[in-house]
Amino acid sequence: MATEVKTTCPYCGVGCGVVATVGDDGGIGVKGDPDHPANFGRLCSKGAALGETLDLDGRLLYPEIGGQAAEWDEALDLVADRFSQAIAEHGPDSVAFYVSGQLLTEDYYVANKLMKGFIGSGNIDTNSRLCMSSSVAGHRRAFGSDTVPGCYEDLELADLVVLTGSNLAWCHPVLYQRLVAAKAARPQMQVVVIDPRRTMTADIADMHLAIRPDGDVALFNGLFAHLASSPAFDQGYISPHTSGFAEAFAAASAFDQATLARLTGLAEQELAAFFQLFESSEKVVTCYSQGVNQSVSGTDKVNAIINCHLATGRIGRPGMGPFSLTGQPNAMGGREVGGLANMLAAHMDIEKAGDRDQVRRFWGAPAIAARPGLKAVDMFRAVADGRIKAIWIMATNPVVSMPDADAIEAALRACPFVVVSDVIRQTDTTRHAHVLLPSLGWGEKDGTVTNSERRISRQRSFLTAPGEARADWWQLAEVGSLMGFAGAFAYASASEIFAEHAGLSGFENDGRRDFDVGAYAEIDGAGYDALMPFQWPQPRGKASTVTRFFADGGFYHPDGRARFIATTSQIAKRVSDAFPFTLNTGRVRDHWHTMTRTGKSARLSAHIGEPFVEIHPRDAMELDLSPADLVVLESPFGAAVVRALITDRQARGNLFVPMHWNDQFAAKARIDALVPPITDPVSGQPASKNVAVSARRFAAS
Ligand code: SF4
Repeated sequence: MATEVKTTCPYCGVGCGVVATVGDDGGIGVKGDPDHPANFGRLCSKGAALGETLDLDGRLLYPEIGGQAAEWDEALDLVADRFSQAIAEHGPDSVAFYVSGQLLTEDYYVANKLMKGFIGSGNIDTNSRLCMSSSVAGHRRAFGSDTVPGCYEDLELADLVVLTGSNLAWCHPVLYQRLVAAKAARPQMQVVVIDPRRTMTADIADMHLAIRPDGDVALFNGLFAHLASSPAFDQGYISPHTSGFAEAFAAASAFDQATLARLTGLAEQELAAFFQLFESSEKVVTCYSQGVNQSVSGTDKVNAIINCHLATGRIGRPGMGPFSLTGQPNAMGGREVGGLANMLAAHMDIEKAGDRDQVRRFWGAPAIAARPGLKAVDMFRAVADGRIKAIWIMATNPVVSMPDADAIEAALRACPFVVVSDVIRQTDTTRHAHVLLPSLGWGEKDGTVTNSERRISRQRSFLTAPGEARADWWQLAEVGSLMGFAGAFAYASASEIFAEHAGLSGFENDGRRDFDVGAYAEIDGAGYDALMPFQWPQPRGKASTVTRFFADGGFYHPDGRARFIATTSQIAKRVSDAFPFTLNTGRVRDHWHTMTRTGKSARLSAHIGEPFVEIHPRDAMELDLSPADLVVLESPFGAAVVRALITDRQARGNLFVPMHWNDQFAAKARIDALVPPITDPVSGQPASKNVAVSARRFAAS
């Protein structure tokens, strides 16, 4: 009789509950958990195929040093020695951790504690920097904390759902299914999709605005200015609960309609129709994802959206609010424990002496990082120029996923000491490791993840760990102990780490964060095993069913008010005669990240089998391209070769290429090799959209 285990999908930020079974014959079954509040039994194609990706083919099963199998003791001693040596000779900022939204919260917590509290450097950053750091920065500017106001149910309750920079149908499929069902039940619900490309999501849209890449600030500034002179303007909310309106309004009012039309690439009639729809819909949710975040103006885009919700008081109440959708399964959990270089743990601020002191005392840490560390792009620059002597990469594949990916590969090749913890033995990144450490995969590891609506769910183990694979938190704790910090890293289980994380959230909490976490600080192993999905953080004294923030008009800035942020539309001209096309990168429905797991499923690969470039028929004609021709794409940073997919879903002059494929699946397929290492100045998030490239038909030499 197969035993059912309730766990959580390891792919996107929707965070669906999964019921997994292991049959007597070892066969693995998965189905959606009907009781999980994220998905109520649904799964998308990737989640449904989880059982097809768990074989041991290609698994990293034993520690390796220099490509040779090694004992754990040997490998851990070497890691601790080389990190200690670099710190002794060059200081704590000569080492770095580059981690991942694939890690569980407990892994993230221990990594952050070791680097920021005991090594004493802020040099821990994450691939979530590539995903949602502009949203984090925008939240902190507007709300005084990185707090997502709403929840998934708001999409079902709204009269208008605006999806901007979000291909929800392919990137958050179960949330899309919930939206489709809600729209079918309430046909009066309107959906607006704002995207340069007519994606599958646009198929349910009542209005598709094919915005010019990076035209978002101009669009939402125009909307803000429109709302300010409309009946939707809520002075009764603005006066007591916000500050900064005048400056933000002045910036938003800078352009007339003709200029807005030019900056957004939209007709004046389209702008007017959208503004009118937003104005007249009391219940509006504006969802945004990588099309907003992955930009040199990503943080301004986020704040331009939030400004519109503050101006109308449409925030934190059922069916309304700005809503950032995280890409990864635990991007949100990483934010909670300070997994970004510019954050501390428990939503505290590394740049505030009082916060640093609280964390230092709670941890009993000898030192605490006194300033933010290097964000992802700067971190790998420091690897390249020799400032970083030792780097530990966990659960991510930066040689494929980072911008200017060829430079990342060169940096790792030149780095004196590279440690990689992974489940896969051969990735584009592991081949540059001096030490490889085998990690637990999905179904083997135990811990928690937090989804886009701040809901914490358990990932539970139901498979025996293969070979000598061990949890990432265990690897970090062992190295921390070997580096001389044994007492602080004597964890026996993930539940102990979770309890400590909860305890830190409540430690000497003076009410600024207003979270009641006492129940979880006392949690024991049995309680942790039984933990049901719940939303976090919880307002003090409220039941766990409370799912929204800011309805009462209270925010986390010292004055208790939200801030309007003045945002300016700066659309850099990137294309040139040499690089005349605008490339946007993104995802396909059935693959995840760099395909190290979904690439194992024939069923998933059958959806789209090869990397491709979407190109408009007129552009294809001018390049003499026929369907499925090979196309060479080049930027000043690199090149890729992909198949032509000729479609009028793509606007003229724009190209779209998915980011998944890498050189293990197809030669010259790493599209991030073309992406420049330029970032948003506030968030440090790379601009993986709006990349200037050339395109030509591949001619075999
Ligand atoms: Fe997994 Fe996301 Fe699909 Fe849900 S929607 S099953 S979390 S990939």
